[in-house]
Amino acid sequence: MIAEVYVDIPASPVDKPFDYQIPEKLSDFVRPGMRVIVPFGRTKRLGFVASLKEESSFGKLKTIERVVDNLPVLTGELLDLGRWLADTTLCPTVSAFLAMLPAVMKAEYHKILTAENTEQLQLRFPRLAQLFLSGKMIEWDVIEKKHPERLKEVNEALDENIISLNRFVGNQANARKVLAVSAAVPRERLIKAAEGLDARSIRQKEVLSFFIESDQQLQLPVSELIKKYHFSRETLGRLVKKSLLKQEFIEQFRDPYVHRPGPPTRPLPLTGEQKQALTPILNSIEKSENRVFLCHGVTGSGKTEIYLQAIQKVIALGKQAIVLVPEISLTPQMVDRFKGRFGAEVAVMHSGLSRGEKYDEWRKIREGLVKVAVGARSAIFAPFERLGLIIIDEEHETSYKQDDSPRYHARDVAIYRAHRHGCPVVLGSATPSLESYARAQKKVYTLLSLKDRFNHHPMPPVEIVDLREEMREGNHSMFSRVLFNKIRDRLKKGEQIVLFLNRRGYSTFVMCRSCGTVIKCPHCDISLTYHHAGRLLKCHYCGYEERAPETCPACGSDSMRYFGTGTQKVETELNRLLPEARVIRMDVDTTRQKGGHEKLLRQFGEQKADILLGTQMIAKGLDFPKVTLVGVLAADSMLHLPDFRASEKTFQLLTQVSGRAGRHDLPGEVVIQSYTPDHYAIVDAAHHDYARFYHEEMQIRHRLGYPPFYFLALINLTHSEPARAADAAERIVSMLKNNLSRSARIYGPVVPAIARIKDRYRYQCMVKYKREPALFPVLRKISLHFQNTGKDGLQLSIDLNPVVLM
Ligand code: ADP
Ligand code: ZN
Ligand code: ZN
Repeated sequence: MIAEVYVDIPASPVDKPFDYQIPEKLSDFVRPGMRVIVPFGRTKRLGFVASLKEESSFGKLKTIERVVDNLPVLTGELLDLGRWLADTTLCPTVSAFLAMLPAVMKAEYHKILTAENTEQLQLRFPRLAQLFLSGKMIEWDVIEKKHPERLKEVNEALDENIISLNRFVGNQANARKVLAVSAAVPRERLIKAAEGLDARSIRQKEVLSFFIESDQQLQLPVSELIKKYHFSRETLGRLVKKSLLKQEFIEQFRDPYVHRPGPPTRPLPLTGEQKQALTPILNSIEKSENRVFLCHGVTGSGKTEIYLQAIQKVIALGKQAIVLVPEISLTPQMVDRFKGRFGAEVAVMHSGLSRGEKYDEWRKIREGLVKVAVGARSAIFAPFERLGLIIIDEEHETSYKQDDSPRYHARDVAIYRAHRHGCPVVLGSATPSLESYARAQKKVYTLLSLKDRFNHHPMPPVEIVDLREEMREGNHSMFSRVLFNKIRDRLKKGEQIVLFLNRRGYSTFVMCRSCGTVIKCPHCDISLTYHHAGRLLKCHYCGYEERAPETCPACGSDSMRYFGTGTQKVETELNRLLPEARVIRMDVDTTRQKGGHEKLLRQFGEQKADILLGTQMIAKGLDFPKVTLVGVLAADSMLHLPDFRASEKTFQLLTQVSGRAGRHDLPGEVVIQSYTPDHYAIVDAAHHDYARFYHEEMQIRHRLGYPPFYFLALINLTHSEPARAADAAERIVSMLKNNLSRSARIYGPVVPAIARIKDRYRYQCMVKYKREPALFPVLRKISLHFQNTGKDGLQLSIDLNPVVLM
């Protein structure tokens, strides 16, 4: 038998399967979807078996060396999905396969140098020989990193066959094994043995009675017997020696949630609107209908309850469901809502888990131990075999698009998988993306609307404050008088406040008042942000940091001033103006530690603080009954970004932040501060008027030729020398012009808003098109061409339907 194998070399243009002979002894074992180790050129590589066949058109084939898995890690469906991803996102097939698996399943390559002739090695290359462990072996990486001056000798020794180079492919994916103890003999024998013990062996007696009273099959990890039941290791050891107990290694799942079981919940009686939305979804599930629903429901309308009841139906039919939630809203609160309803049937996948934990959650899905996968973007690849429903909450979130290869959008993958499984997709949002809403208008998707909050509480009133007016009247503070008075009022009443500012750090830039110099990152074309702790200037793009200078590095004057406002500065101001207020600041800087995010939210939930101040991190999903005031300090911060989605993002963010107020019994209100209070994105958000915003924004998109009226393809080029990047961009534009139809609009080369990141200069080309059959072939040609010549440091990436243009 012959296997067609995709080999793990994503960078080269070998994006096709290679034929390998399956050794006799493995012929019944190898199946499509398994990972194998194969010789490739002079190396060994991980590969994926894509299919099997009897004959090959090639003469002499190499043989599969080893099979990594005993069960295919990719199902037939996922293999197809991988090929489709490669086609539609222009990535190598093997990258698509790898993207669908937990990171630990990627191969680890080791290169080992072995001394073939130790005497010769000693004689000819004495200093190199010293590095060889017990005269025999050393890892190539060690020489490359620590003793690069020996590399030349390594090559000579290799040429003379004094040493050899061997490659190993390691497998990082390991199930966790723990030592567990169980009864080795039937209960009667344990009882007898216990009776036979003398009075001094109290401890052994205790252990025996524990096992006598337990289920005969009980098998408990040693660690648990010691920690929870306070038995000692010695006592257990004695009983094992007497063959009354036995110990062996068992596989254990790392369950990150095992210690926090939420209270179980039952389905809630639905409101009329909820019922109306749920019924067609249930019908589709029952009929295995491949339909896409867009559930447009205001914040607090009870969409999650609809998801839960739909999933319940799926489970009842013996099928499985995937729920995608943006990484940032995948809080314990959110997870508990699913665990509370479906308990151990739920696997959770998000970036807060360790690699091992992620692998275990994945295995539970693959082995059919759970029915529901809740997770961020990549959970869309959950290897379920009988999908009955896919839900994407907050479907407008740009984080559903992966920003490096494979550049897939989870929504597209969901729709593709659902088609294959014959099941519905539910996209939910209070502020659907323009693309999705337009599809619903055209009846491509089925629109479900929830216009009312589940408890019929009105949407909070929103007041827009004109910051220019405040300035004119002499208020230079970051708080308008209206907002400040309301904050004081809530503090007095013991209610809670959420303040939102989309910029972290203290000041957004540092400028010399004498000569106008702005301090920029030496590696990126962007100003540095001042962070008060440690008086540091940091680059938010590459992480570069330096101490804030006392004097201007250009003219030496001491008139360095800090401009712009970040969350740290707001915190300082709050402490100064309202010393009695307890403030929690939540941004990247305060939540870096694992679990930091949840900890701060829990504190706020327990009312250990009055004010929660944060970046977009706090915009979503939070539900605190005591919050009655939400303040947006600078609504314009996203509005003027050079991106055609700036208005849409501003509208979404403002709507979401506003949704945090008055969700429960206490009525809430919202204050939005802005320098452009008449902008439609701000006004429409203040009126909770999605339809109006959609209408206005669609007209602009139509006029400027942006999605959803046109598709976009964005080509990014970077090089350490600007001329090289520009030159390549020029050539790409002319290739596009020569190959595409006249109706395609081709732009570029242009320099994006941030012209340099991490010492690499950036250029972009863009294509706007409606129907362009020639586009993909040309893009493939471009990518192949520039990959081949790309050894000189040019980097090219192609992003179809980009969500970020900067
Ligand atoms: P959304 O996701 O649409 O913003 P949620 O699903 O978070 O709304 O619902 C908001 C709150 O309303 C939650 O606390 C939820 O438990 C509650 N809720 C939703 N539906 C019902 C219902 N039918 N009866 C009682 N409470 C409900
Ligand atoms: Zn200066
Ligand atoms: Zn930088």
